[in-house]
Amino acid sequence: MAGHYDAVVVGAGFGGMGAGIQLDRMGLHDYVILEREDDLGGTWHVNRYPGLAVDIASVTYSYSFEPNPNWSRLFAPGDELEQYAHHVADTYDLRRRMRFGTTVSGARWDDENELWTVSIEGGETLTARYLLTATGFLSQPYTPPFPGIEDFAGTIVHTTAWDQDLNLTGRRVAIIGTGATAVQLVPELARAAAELTVFQRTPIWVVPKVDMPIPAAVRSLFAAVPATQRAARLVNTSALELLMVTGVLHYKQLKLGNKGAELLARAHLRRQVRDPETRRKLTPTYDFGCKRPTFSNTYFATFNEPHVRLETGSIDHVAADGIVTVGGHKTEIDTLVLATGFNLWDVNFPAIEVIGRDGVDLGKFWREHRFQAYEGITVPKFPNFLSLNSPYSYSGLSYFTTIEAQMKHMGRLFGEMRRRGARVFEVTEAANARFLDKVTDKLGSSVFYGGDCASSRSYYFNQHGEAALLRPNSTLTTHRHATHFPLDDYDYRVG
Ligand code: NAP
Repeated sequence: MAGHYDAVVVGAGFGGMGAGIQLDRMGLHDYVILEREDDLGGTWHVNRYPGLAVDIASVTYSYSFEPNPNWSRLFAPGDELEQYAHHVADTYDLRRRMRFGTTVSGARWDDENELWTVSIEGGETLTARYLLTATGFLSQPYTPPFPGIEDFAGTIVHTTAWDQDLNLTGRRVAIIGTGATAVQLVPELARAAAELTVFQRTPIWVVPKVDMPIPAAVRSLFAAVPATQRAARLVNTSALELLMVTGVLHYKQLKLGNKGAELLARAHLRRQVRDPETRRKLTPTYDFGCKRPTFSNTYFATFNEPHVRLETGSIDHVAADGIVTVGGHKTEIDTLVLATGFNLWDVNFPAIEVIGRDGVDLGKFWREHRFQAYEGITVPKFPNFLSLNSPYSYSGLSYFTTIEAQMKHMGRLFGEMRRRGARVFEVTEAANARFLDKVTDKLGSSVFYGGDCASSRSYYFNQHGEAALLRPNSTLTTHRHATHFPLDDYDYRVG
């Protein structure tokens, strides 16, 4: 007989842990968190490449109800995030609910018995009243199908599978990709490698990172007087909010904010890179914000180093001993680093097969119709299902604002379920359509549609050309909606 739970949560990253904390708060203690990796922490467990750090200040990139006074820097390095995840799991008694090395292959709604059947690779099945997927936005690594890559004779490493024993000293290294990961990694590779070639297809906007160690006295103050850290969080979150709302979401009305950020990035590039041709190649031709901008004080300057070369020729194929561009130029290497990111729209939305009422397949539905989810969390035909990493769910710049808004949404929805004595919830078609219309309309003002994003190749856009990732309103509005959405936006089965 399959194990039965109140809820199955898929994913033991910060999203899944937030869901677990909220389930406990609502009195639903009988849940399990299934995780394909061998430990908790999600992104911060998987990503271990040199240079890994947050690029949202740590006072903001953390749960507001579990502040950490011990961050060593304004922007904490990756291992501190992983330690913080472990601290949260211990503090909120989540670890005993977690099963690691457990890959969920799919889940199916059983309408007659009003439960989800969750299939695990290897043949086991579980059942639960509620299903919550917290599988992240960036959890399906992408390796482009470069011809010949399987014949490469050297070492290949994707940034999500970093080998801690990899010694790059004296190596001839190439890195493909210039996203946020590469911006952190390139300076570290340059420090060790004898030669480094950076293969760039699309340049990225980079602004300075105002980072520094947090003095011990400030950390002690944060620990002794938590209100001081809350104040620091408020200041930082407000600044991020301003950047997001003015620079990205209200591009049409407030172009100046966006152009100001672009000017800052251009000045940064001018100050850091001596060679005008390299500068030109590093300058994006799309508007700031079309693609996720990054923060670094060392990335651009790395290209001044004599052993570092920027290659902008298109990759034709990978040979046993190097990378050959379309023009026929071969860069001989012995180590290939793939900073080629993630596949969001084909395999991550959703990350597992989810079959709802009437046999509707969520992935097919999203791809064949439009990507959509009411308040970025629920979908018609998918009863008792919360999709925490949905289209239009990401609000603000810190993922924690999204997580905590979704926890509030859960609190309101399950509170109403209890009040009505309901067993099943399902968002109505009308509420879902209204939300989709509203976000579509509001996104019309954003840089994604008002700006010039043609050359950005941004993962914010899906295969239909829609920027269906970010929720186009302030995080304050997101949080207000989470606690005030009309309760009749859901159908409830009672009795
Ligand atoms: P990414 O932004 O998707 O970048 C992937 C890179 O690989 C791009 O430069 C892309 O070029 C290149 N690429 C992909 N396929 C290629 C091909 N066939 N040929 C040549 N180049 C190819 O991935 P990422 O850098 O791993 O970052 C993903 C996200 O993770 C970030 O945007 C951010 O949200 C998050 N992140 C956050 C932090 C942090 O500090 N908090 C750090 C790292 C990552 P094109 O641009 O031309 O497609």
